[in-house]
Amino acid sequence: MMNAARFGVGVQGIALAERAYQHAVAYARDRVQSRPVDGSLPAAGAIIHHPDVRRMLMTMRAHTEGCRALALVAAAAFDAAHAHPDAEVRKQNQAFYEFMVPLIKGLSTEMSLDVASLGVQVHGGMGYIEETGAAQYLRDAKILTIYEGTTAIQANDLVGRKTARDGGPWRAASPRRSRPPKGAGGPRQRRLPGDGAAPAAGRQAFVDAVDFIAGASRSNPNAAYAGSVPYLMLAGNLMAGWQMARALIAAEDRLAEGVEVAFMQAKIATCHFYADHILNKAPGLRDSIVDGADAVTALALESF
Ligand SMILES: Cc1cc2nc3c(=O)[nH]c(=O)nc-3n(C[C@H](O)[C@H](O)[C@H](O)COP(=O)(O)OP(=O)(O)OC[C@H]3O[C@@H](n4cnc5c(N)ncnc54)[C@H](O)[C@@H]3O)c2cc1C
Repeated sequence: MMNAARFGVGVQGIALAERAYQHAVAYARDRVQSRPVDGSLPAAGAIIHHPDVRRMLMTMRAHTEGCRALALVAAAAFDAAHAHPDAEVRKQNQAFYEFMVPLIKGLSTEMSLDVASLGVQVHGGMGYIEETGAAQYLRDAKILTIYEGTTAIQANDLVGRKTARDGGPWRAASPRRSRPPKGAGGPRQRRLPGDGAAPAAGRQAFVDAVDFIAGASRSNPNAAYAGSVPYLMLAGNLMAGWQMARALIAAEDRLAEGVEVAFMQAKIATCHFYADHILNKAPGLRDSIVDGADAVTALALESF
């Protein structure tokens, strides 16, 4: 029951983020302010021409698409866990789904808060004006990180049950690792953003974080749990990045066939943005988890 509720709240976050994105795009096309830096317009133009506004919109879009893909993959695993004829496959899918639930609840809701905040930022001062509706998304997103277990409670589940106790990342992901998605591997790897550098660095960061957390969870629990939320974000971003890499490969194949060209081009651009602006933060999260654990608890309680 808790898994269903947590999954549902994660999907609420994705829906809210999508709406905040669409709202921000509409405003950015309409609001006129300043001349574009590239001189593409003779006078002031719509703010969507400004590179930083496009950065904000791409961040909103990439986060939303990554989390949506993650939720769909988890939902498919849930179906297979209940309906697949092979008991071993059902078990593997159940383990994978259970590993994914705290990621979907924790990442998608924190992501929706960031996306809604960027939506207000795209609106500038108008973001504070209730009639625009931008602030409503931000207010609504905040509760998603709290109810059905705060982000820290999702992270505790990920660290305590799904990593330290079950060895979750390896057991849950292994059936999928041994069966790479159609189109992955071999020469196609070269088509991943940056020749696959961001996915490879992200994966290594995740491996380091798992080793540290699994090792410290008994010997130094404060250190393990100090990095619990960054670990959830690292794992979630890596898993979402994996789905974006799959989407990239599929979209390139469809584009080559001339199918839904504009949609495929947009998907490819968004996948590259995900690798260059979101997945590439994984090594920094790893450093916070592994090297920064002591700094979290260094300040004495009475010094706060
Ligand atoms: C609008 C709204 C609707 C709600 N609807 C429902 C509902 O329909 N049904 C229902 O049962 N509940 C509902 N709730 C309750 C909600 O599920 C809880 O508020 C939520 O789970 C957080 O618990 P808490 O309020 O006791 O916060 P606390 O547990 O006191 O948490 C306070 C802070 O401490 C942190 N914290 C607490 N324990 C730990 C820990 N072990 N490790 C790390 N950090 C920790 C939390 O992450 C948080 O940052 C609702 C709450 C709100 C605000």
